[in-house]
Amino acid sequence: MANQNILLNFDRNGANHTLENYLKRKGYSTLSEKIPNMKPEQVLDEVKKSGIRGRGGAGFPAGIKWSFLPKDSDKPVYLICNGDEGEPGTFKDRVILEENPHMLIEGMILAAYAINAKHCYIYIRGEYGFALQRVQQAVDEAYRAGYLGKKLTGANYSCDITVHKGAGAYVVGDETGLMNSIEGKKGQTRNKPPFPAVEGLYQCPTIINNVETLASVPWIIDHGGAAYHSIGTEKSSGTKLLSISGHVRKPGVYEVDLGYPFMDFLNKDCGGVIGNRKLKAVIPGGSSTPVLRPEDCEKITIDYESIAEAGSSLGSGAILIIAEGSCMVKTLEVLTHFYHHESCGQCTPCREGTGWLHKIVKRIEAGQGKMEDLDLLTSITKHIAFHTICPLGDAACGPVDSFVKKFKDEFIEHIKTGGCPFGGKFVRFQERV
Ligand code: SF4
Repeated sequence: MANQNILLNFDRNGANHTLENYLKRKGYSTLSEKIPNMKPEQVLDEVKKSGIRGRGGAGFPAGIKWSFLPKDSDKPVYLICNGDEGEPGTFKDRVILEENPHMLIEGMILAAYAINAKHCYIYIRGEYGFALQRVQQAVDEAYRAGYLGKKLTGANYSCDITVHKGAGAYVVGDETGLMNSIEGKKGQTRNKPPFPAVEGLYQCPTIINNVETLASVPWIIDHGGAAYHSIGTEKSSGTKLLSISGHVRKPGVYEVDLGYPFMDFLNKDCGGVIGNRKLKAVIPGGSSTPVLRPEDCEKITIDYESIAEAGSSLGSGAILIIAEGSCMVKTLEVLTHFYHHESCGQCTPCREGTGWLHKIVKRIEAGQGKMEDLDLLTSITKHIAFHTICPLGDAACGPVDSFVKKFKDEFIEHIKTGGCPFGGKFVRFQERV
């Protein structure tokens, strides 16, 4: 099955980030040719028809999210692009930000038109220095060419974009933390409701979408929502960017049609597991998603439903491959350390609980664990998950519960033998290959 190239439709070695190159690829033609003949409601309708689900991790349908904006508000509407890609193992938005920024800008202008937003923000994590530089350069070029600003080229409306640099906190990947950060406050999350669509940035109606979601909009409007919906599966339509890393022969960023068999992707597209080692485990959607064993992976296809049925989640599309010979306890120790470090400290279950999770996993790995620790771990996660302000608490629990459940023997072996049978070898989450 050949996969479509909607987002990676360019030569990865070319100067494709420039306006000149984007125009050669018919860039901004959707804006200049389609929009003069479309009303905002029609743009929204096409996005709804496409069925595209938010590509940041939650998978909520983008068109439905846009339609939550209040119809009777006289406040300005804001559109924010969430480029705070901080989940370990996730680096797929980076490719768009660095190599195809004009497609994102065009998508944002179209989305802004659909929801009547005059001012948009692109929020990029502070660690992505090169992406920030490329996106700012593209925004400047778009202003000079009249695609941004007052009375846009080819369209009868105005749109401004501000690029905002984050300061490096995982928790601002949550939309309310991100809005606080733009407002100049501490990057901590807010209680919901009110939801951003009703009361978001500067207490005004706000839509926040992921980079990949917004970059898909020009194709959707150009080809029509139905054409996009015909790719993939009924409930998981379109293509998905995947960042694959760990013990895999050809790590990197790929675009596949949703519904693509996982093992074909791993073995045919990515060259299989490195060094002809056996597959031991897969984290399928970013470090917060429950781990899968090889037998779970045999039958899954890459889409929201199939991976959920296997007990995990497609999440952000960050796949981590773990080969035989790696220690699952050590891998979990690295993950629990990350979530504890990134807890913003607002809620007690997360602030304290993530620290306890790390401490217990660390002592098991060091050979000082007790059998009771296994029940203790799962009992702590029960007190964190769904008892916190933001999803970081839940994110910290997914790996713990699944690692203990699916690799219990390995935890027991550490406790019984008083040490790590793998010499502490683990897989590293790679950002860029
Ligand atoms: Fe902060 Fe954790 Fe509570 Fe989220 S769950 S608000 S990160 S303490």
